[in-house]
Amino acid sequence: MSVGRGAKLLLIAIAVGFVVGILFGYTVSVTLPKDTQTVLADWFKALGDIFVRLIRVVIPLLIFFTIAAATSSIASAKKLGKVLVLILIVYIVTSALAAFWGVLAGQVFAPGALVGLQPPKDYKPPTPPSGVDVLLSFFQTDFNSLLTVGGSMTTIIFAIVLGVAVVLLGDEGRKVSQYLSLASKVMISFVRVVMYYAPIAVFAYAAWLMIRYGPVMLGAYGKFLLAQYSLTLLHFFIIYSILVALGGLSPVRYFKAQSTPFLIAFTTRSSAVTLPYNMEAAKKMGVPDELFGITLPIGATVNMDGTALYQALSAMFVAQLFGIALTPYHISLIILAAVIGSVATAAIPGGGTIMLAYVLSVVGLPLEGVGIMLVIDPIADAIRTAINVSGDNACTVFISRFLGYKLSPQ
Ligand code: ASP
Repeated sequence: MSVGRGAKLLLIAIAVGFVVGILFGYTVSVTLPKDTQTVLADWFKALGDIFVRLIRVVIPLLIFFTIAAATSSIASAKKLGKVLVLILIVYIVTSALAAFWGVLAGQVFAPGALVGLQPPKDYKPPTPPSGVDVLLSFFQTDFNSLLTVGGSMTTIIFAIVLGVAVVLLGDEGRKVSQYLSLASKVMISFVRVVMYYAPIAVFAYAAWLMIRYGPVMLGAYGKFLLAQYSLTLLHFFIIYSILVALGGLSPVRYFKAQSTPFLIAFTTRSSAVTLPYNMEAAKKMGVPDELFGITLPIGATVNMDGTALYQALSAMFVAQLFGIALTPYHISLIILAAVIGSVATAAIPGGGTIMLAYVLSVVGLPLEGVGIMLVIDPIADAIRTAINVSGDNACTVFISRFLGYKLSPQ
C-alpha cells in the first residue's frame, strides 16, 4: 500500500473515531448516572493520555535525529547558515503577525467581556521571568535534559551544532551523516506505528470531552472559539496564500498538498506526530529534501502561528473575564510573550495551554486563566495545531525562492 493511501485510510479511521466518540460521549452524558459518567470519563481520558505519552517519549529523539540528519547532509556550512537565518526570521515574523491577529480578535469579539469573574482573593500579579531566564532556558545544563520534551529547544540547538560538526569533518563525516539519516528514518517509522493507535485515542478524547464538558461549551467559550477559528483560518488562507505565491507555488497546489497534514494535525493535535505527513506534503509541493529536511523539523517545535494567535487571544480573554484593563504597553507585552511562548511550546496536545502560564505571568494576569482555558483546550488545540504545521510548509516554500531553489510540484 502506498504511503499516501495509508495516510488517507488513517484519516478516515481517525474521523470515524472522532464522530463516534462525540456521539458516544453525548449519549453517556444524557443517559448514565453522574458517578458512572465520572468513572467512564477517567478511563477515556487515560486511553487518550496513552497516545500523548507515547508521543512525548519519541519527540526528543525524533527532533534530534531529523535535524541532525538534515543539517549534516547539507553540502556546505555556509549554505546551512543561510537556510537557518532565513527560516528563523520568517518563522518569527509570521508568528508575530499571528499574535497580532490574536490581540485584534480579542478587541473585536471581546469574548470575555461582561462575565465579571472575581480575581482570586490573595491575587498578586506574578513576577515574570526575566529575558535572561528565558534565554538561558534554551540552553539546558545537562545532557540528559535533551531527552525531555521541556528540553526541546536545547535539543534543536545541539542537533544543529552536531550537524555542523559533521559537515566540517568533510569526507570522514559522511558515514556519520548516513547513520543519522537512518536513525531519523527509524524515528519517523516509530511515529507511524504510534499513529495506528490514533483513532482509538481520538475516539477516547472526544468521548471524554463530551461527558466532562458538553454543557459548558456555550456562552463566553463559544465566542472565544468563534474569534479564534475565524482569525486563525484567515491567517491560513490569506497569509499563507501570499507566502506560497511569493515562493513561486500556486496557492491551490499548496492547499491541496497541505490538506492531509492539516487534517492529521487537527485530529491528533500534535505537530511532532504530523511531521512525517508534513514532509510528504512538502515533497508534493516540489520542495527539495535538503531544504524541508531542515526547516520542517525545526518548524515543528519553533514555528507555531496558531499557538501564538491562541495565546495572545487567551491573554486578552482572561483579562476581560476578570475585568482587568490593558494598556497599549500590556498589549505589546502580550504579543512579545506570545511569540516567545509559542517558540517554547512543546509540539504535543495541550502544549500551548501549559505555556500560556508563561504569557499570563509576563503580563501579570491571573494564572487561573490556564485552568479556565483547559476546559476548551481540545477544540482550541485542533485548529491551532493544523495551522502550526501548515505555516511550516508555507514559510519553507517562501524561502525556497531566496535560496535559488526551483520548485517542481508533483
Ligand atoms: N498542540 C500544538 C502542536 O503540537 C501545540 C499547542 O498546544 O499549541 O503544535
